[in-house]
Amino acid sequence: MTNLLPEMAEIWQETLNWQPNAQQQLQFQQLYELIVEGNRQLNLTRITEPQEFWEKHLWDSLRGIVLKQQFISFLDEGASVIDIGTGAGFPGIPVAIAAPNCQVTLLDSTRKKITFIDKILTDLALDNAKTLVGRVEEIAQQTQHRQSYDVALIRAVGSASACAEYTLPLLKRGGLAVIYRGNWTEEETAALKNAVSQLGGKVEAIAPFTTPLTQSIRHCLYLRKIVATPANFPRAVGVPTQNPLC
Ligand code: SAM
Repeated sequence: MTNLLPEMAEIWQETLNWQPNAQQQLQFQQLYELIVEGNRQLNLTRITEPQEFWEKHLWDSLRGIVLKQQFISFLDEGASVIDIGTGAGFPGIPVAIAAPNCQVTLLDSTRKKITFIDKILTDLALDNAKTLVGRVEEIAQQTQHRQSYDVALIRAVGSASACAEYTLPLLKRGGLAVIYRGNWTEEETAALKNAVSQLGGKVEAIAPFTTPLTQSIRHCLYLRKIVATPANFPRAVGVPTQNPLC
């Protein structure tokens, strides 16, 4: 039998000014069980203990969409969101559960992972999320995706500079990229600013925080799209990581 996830209602409330309703709590539990089961065949995540799963996958995913003590305002207003390199569905699936008014696209280059996520979306009856298989460098050059999203989320996919190059071309003007990081320094912010401005954006905020159970240090970087990204970005597959913008 799979373990029960902790509810953590008070911690949700204190840290994110939000807490899941009964249906959302059930969806979190179902998501957890499906991932533990899926892990037997696919190498999805090392994080399978209930408390750790709650903190590192559920809480961390939702911490990124909180700015000034509440969910990014777009999300209540039917925002289109893309999660780039979603893997087993993080941060995109918890965001789709917590913000049912937004439309979430879960993108990954590995078909096996996306097939697994399709099953999760069906089992959780999550009809505000859909999947997409491909390399972000190619997807972001397609007219149906380029400059089409209000919010772009990216966690554990590459350097901050590569993440900026993956996210900003996909955003509408005024849209927001959220880059989830561990440690982060002011020197890194200074280095990132130049890359972000070449891509038509600006660094709007850097939010440092500690996770509520293990007090791990994390950061979220928020990039605002100001003007259209030049057509040559993102560069060809592999180039943003091999030859990062600086
Ligand atoms: N975001 C998830 C998380 O934080 O748990 C998964 C992170 S996993 C370390 C990185 C994922 O990004 C993998 O599933 C990989 O297939 C995907 N990925 C890496 N480069 C990509 C690219 N260029 N385009 C699309 N997906 C990519």
